Amino acid sequence: MALNSEVLALLDEMKEIRRNIHRNPEVGLETVETAKLIKSKLDEYGIPYSDCGVNSVVAEIKGGEGDTTVAFRVDFDALEMEEENDFAYKSQVQGRMHACGHDGHCTSLIALAAYLSKNRDFNGTVLLLFQSGEEGYEGALRVIEDGFFDKYKVDYMFGFHNWPGLETGKIAVHNGACMASEDRFEIYVTGKSGHASMPHVSNEPFAAVADIIKGLQSIIVRKVPSHERGVISITQVHGGSMRNGIPDRVMVQGNVRTCNEDVQDLIEESIGQVAKGAATMYGVKAELDYVRKHPVLVNSVPEIGLKAAEKVVGAENVVTDMESSMAAEDYAFFMKHTKGCYVWIGNGSDSAALHNSKYDFNDEILPVAASFFIAVIDELL
Ligand SMILES: [Zn+2]
Ligand SMILES: [Zn+2]
Repeated sequence: MALNSEVLALLDEMKEIRRNIHRNPEVGLETVETAKLIKSKLDEYGIPYSDCGVNSVVAEIKGGEGDTTVAFRVDFDALEMEEENDFAYKSQVQGRMHACGHDGHCTSLIALAAYLSKNRDFNGTVLLLFQSGEEGYEGALRVIEDGFFDKYKVDYMFGFHNWPGLETGKIAVHNGACMASEDRFEIYVTGKSGHASMPHVSNEPFAAVADIIKGLQSIIVRKVPSHERGVISITQVHGGSMRNGIPDRVMVQGNVRTCNEDVQDLIEESIGQVAKGAATMYGVKAELDYVRKHPVLVNSVPEIGLKAAEKVVGAENVVTDMESSMAAEDYAFFMKHTKGCYVWIGNGSDSAALHNSKYDFNDEILPVAASFFIAVIDELL
């Protein structure tokens, strides 16, 4: 491994910062104190910054006259769950925990800021984007709506997620899709209410609902090409309130994941067809409300991520054959506006899973992430 020696020398200080953030988790877009801490470090390093989105922060560092701009994006929000670890720096806020390692992600970028404050021998502009609200709060969209891409000409953007199960010292780079899209839908099936003893004078919606739920599963096996991946999960069904009554309306809610935008289109269209077909068969009405929450995260310049990763951990420690994850990441929105690559950095083969109550970010990978960022700068600027 060829970790940057200046970054390695910062490890103790960065560990302290990471553990401080871990102790004080903030959720969603309400990341005021963590943003303050990030800004205080940027002030200390003499790096200018501005607010963007909701409680997100972007710092700008110029080196030389080059006109290429490379952005690095990390998230820094926590989750609403109770931590079950009992180390000294465990969460001090009941019901909140850094269980996705975003405390470590943002500390890696703080380490890069510290390094760049003393090393400006690159040619171009580096942006450090600390983003709030990644865990389903549309933090990335708020940054984009706030004019991030109007204010800055971003040629490339890079990011990472720590990855439990992948050994420390390994980096995974996907050639193409890295994380899945996430869509949510509701199907409202409306019939006619009536007495349970006389279904022939009402129009009960449950038979159609049962066929819709079965039909949705056949989309994955019969319509999605077998070499592609897709998931349709039913997450809620609500309807009825009496033992002896047939309700007017039943709601079916679900969640869809794919790693290919064509498959995403196919699934949305097919859900509509299944719902409409079953409704016609039973003489009820089915209305589909389909919302695309996150796009597929596609690496457009994996070759740059690959080169930088090889430089840091050696070619033998770069993994290129991992399946893309069916989890979603709002970094995907940025990839609609610029080129980039999002990598996974091993959090250790014995690490607890993401969003597990015993999860913890592995501090040993702070210099791996920061060295990866530096290698990208060396590559592009
Ligand atoms: Zn998460
Ligand atoms: Zn995460």
